Amino acid sequence: MKKSVNIFWFRRDLRLTDNAGLYHALKSELPVLPLFIFDRIILDELSNKKDARVEFIYKQIAAMHEKLIGLGSGMEVCYGKPAEVFDSLMDKYEIGKIFTNEDYEPYARDRDMEIEEVAKIKNISFHSFKDQVIFSKNEVLKPDASPYTVYTPYSKRWKSLLEEKRKFYLKPYPVEKYYKNLFQHSAEKMISLKSMGFLPGDEEFPSAKLNGAMIKAYGEQRDFPGLEATSRMGIHLRFGTISIRQLISDAIKLNAVYLNELIWREFYQMILWFFPRVGRGRAFKPAYEKIKWINDESQFALWCEGRTGYPMVDAGMRQLNEIGFMHNRVRMITASFLSKHLLIDWQWGEAYFAEKLLDYDLASNNGGWQWAAGCGCDAAPYFRVFNPSLQQEKFDPDGTYIKRWLPEYQELDYPAPVVEHGFARDRAIKVYKQALTGHA
Ligand code: FAD
Repeated sequence: MKKSVNIFWFRRDLRLTDNAGLYHALKSELPVLPLFIFDRIILDELSNKKDARVEFIYKQIAAMHEKLIGLGSGMEVCYGKPAEVFDSLMDKYEIGKIFTNEDYEPYARDRDMEIEEVAKIKNISFHSFKDQVIFSKNEVLKPDASPYTVYTPYSKRWKSLLEEKRKFYLKPYPVEKYYKNLFQHSAEKMISLKSMGFLPGDEEFPSAKLNGAMIKAYGEQRDFPGLEATSRMGIHLRFGTISIRQLISDAIKLNAVYLNELIWREFYQMILWFFPRVGRGRAFKPAYEKIKWINDESQFALWCEGRTGYPMVDAGMRQLNEIGFMHNRVRMITASFLSKHLLIDWQWGEAYFAEKLLDYDLASNNGGWQWAAGCGCDAAPYFRVFNPSLQQEKFDPDGTYIKRWLPEYQELDYPAPVVEHGFARDRAIKVYKQALTGHA
């Protein structure tokens, strides 16, 4: 006879503590089967079979599986297309409800709608909860109930809403109290990375523990890429290996500037929720779609490889290629350089970052790229063009960052710039102006 269970489906919330959806699942009337699906629809798109993000997820699922075995349960780990996986789970178990946490990316929204439909036919209900942000969807709106498109007023409203009910919003979900409601079974051995077509790499991942001293100095130091002065929480926020409620509680105690950065993350998630077209290749400001990009493939290759002749740009791209991370200041410089100096469609750069960043997140990556290219919400006016050499003087004055990522760097014989700054700046302004005003 089939066993009766409710399912909790993990996605970007890979932890067994302070997890909203898991908490609600464990409080339901049936034992809870924890589920993770290695989604073929996503994995088949990844060309690098040593993708460190897949490895990160794999290791985290393996650790959770071990912990669950210790609790008499275990993770049901599947590989396939979610609708097909659920079909076979419905054959294997008598499923009452499916619980999960919300995911606001366009693909995830479509996927969840499909699963909800499939489940409904079999009388299985689908329940999803807010977990990866403090405020989601339409919780932070302007007084006229429209969405904010400028960060500062959004962040003010965000903070005042939090202050009204801080305890409520930041309270951790006491999942541990309900572990006894996990479905007890002898779990199967986990599927191997190899059988899914992937190989383990040798990536070192940043730890999920916040360095209090670093965060206290964050406001003064975060813009200097030569210092280890940012938290490296990106990958943990991406996959939910840290709770946002925990991080925001820490940020409130430690540093107001750090809190603001976490609010930028929620701002971009909100933008993606209200304007999903931005995640589907459209500019937030449609007029910018008229820009006549040059799209020179050989210059794009130089940018990707970190060989533009601008040390700050090149060091950033080398850092990205080597460790799957790039400092935020340098992300802004490299993104601006691609779209304005080289007049290459920002979407090419967005896709390159998406392939390489360990902390890749559609909402923030898209928001960051559209901001740098000028077509995003709250972007600087198009005629502001970063000067990569001045940025280097200001933010890497003693060359620590550049020397770290460009060991061959010697000021005298460094390759000539792929394009001269003054010329590129004037050209960018002209091309942008033409697109936006119709006049040269
Ligand atoms: P910290 O400075 O320690 O900040 C802590 C956390 O706050 C970050 O992990 C992140 O979740 C959030 N945060 C900080 N700055 C921003 C920001 N400007 N926008 C949104 N959230 C922010 N961030 C991503 O998480 N994924 C991306 O794919 C991504 N792509 C980007 C692309 C471009 C072109 C630009 C300009 C920025 C991008 N960012 C992205 C934002 C930012 O660069 C990274 O979040 C940050 O560098 C990650 O390092 P950290 O964890 O040490 O950040």
